[in-house]
Amino acid sequence: MPASEIPFQVQAIAVLGAGTMGRGIAHVAALGGFRTTLFDTDGQALERAVASIDKNLHRGVELGKLSEDAATGALGRLATARDLAAAVAAADLVIEAVPETMALKVETFRQVASAAPAHALFASNTSALSITEMAAASGRAERFAGMHFFNPVHLMKLIELVRGLETSEATLATLREVSERMGKEVVLVNEAPGFVTSRINALIGNEAFRMLQEGVASAEDIDKALKLGLNHPMGPFEMVDLVGLDVRLSILEFLHRALGEAYRPNNLLVQHVRAGRLGRKVGRGVYEYDAEGKGIRK
Ligand code: NAD
Repeated sequence: MPASEIPFQVQAIAVLGAGTMGRGIAHVAALGGFRTTLFDTDGQALERAVASIDKNLHRGVELGKLSEDAATGALGRLATARDLAAAVAAADLVIEAVPETMALKVETFRQVASAAPAHALFASNTSALSITEMAAASGRAERFAGMHFFNPVHLMKLIELVRGLETSEATLATLREVSERMGKEVVLVNEAPGFVTSRINALIGNEAFRMLQEGVASAEDIDKALKLGLNHPMGPFEMVDLVGLDVRLSILEFLHRALGEAYRPNNLLVQHVRAGRLGRKVGRGVYEYDAEGKGIRK
C-alpha cells in the first residue's frame, strides 16, 4: 500500500517505553480518544506509569480542566503490555519512547516491523537521533516520522513533527491530525540536529554559562533578566537544573560534532557535571534545592 494514500483513520496507538515521556504520550493519546497500549520491558515501570497517568488525569479534574467522564474514558482506553508483539499487533500508529540509543531504537523498530499491521505508521520521540536512520531500519521509511513531545507531555503544547528523508506527505498529514486530536500544536521540521527547540535552547543555555563564567551577572540575575526582560517562562539556569546538566552536556557535545564551534560546551558547565552538580534530580545543579524544591544559589 503506497504511503501517499493513508486510507484509514488512526484509532489504536501503541506507545513503547513507559518512562517520563512514554507515560505522558500514553496519557494524551488515551485522552485524545485513541485505544492506547503502553509497552515496557519493566513491569514496575508500567505500574508506576499507570499510577502517574491516573494521578495526572484526576488532578486535571480537580483543576476543572477535564470532566470526570473524560478522565474515566481515558483510563478505560488505556491498556498495558509486556509483550512487544502483542502490544503492536492491532496498532495503527506505534510511537517509540525507549532510551536514547540508536542501537536500541533500531532493534526495537526491527521487531515492531514484523509484528505490527502492514498499514501502521511509526514515529520516534527521539530528542536528537536520526529519524532517517531509524526509518531505514524499520523497512517502511515513507511511513516513519519523528514526533518530538515535550516534558511534561500532558501540559506542554508543542510537538515537533520531524520529516525524515523519505517520509511521505500523507504520513505527515496523518500525524498532524493525530497530534491535534491529542490537543497539541505542531511545527514541521526537516530532520536536522537538535530540530528547532533543542538547538536554540542549547545555545542559550551555553551562553548563559559563558556569561556566568565571565562574571557578567549572577545566576539569579541572568535568570531574572530572561524572565522579566525577554518573557521566558524560566531562566536558563532554572531550565538546565530541570533538564539535567549531564543531559544538556551530552546534547551540546552532539550539536558541537554536528554543527560546529558555536556549540562547544562551556567549561563551567563541564565542571558542574564533573562535580556531580547534575540538577534538581540530585538536589543540586546551578542552584541547591531544599526539601520543598526551592532553589538557592550557594
Ligand atoms: P526514561 O528513562 O524515563 O524511560 C525509558 C523507558 O523505556 C523506561 O521505562 C525503560 O524501562 C523502558 N525501556 C528500556 N528498554 C526498553 C525496551 N527495549 N523496550 C521498551 N521499553 C524499554 O526515558 P525518557 O526520558 O522517557 O526518554 C525516552 C525518549 O524520549 C528518549 O529518546 C529521549 O531522548 C526522548 N525525550 C525525552 C525528553 C525528556 O525531557 N525526558 C523530552 C523529549 C524526548
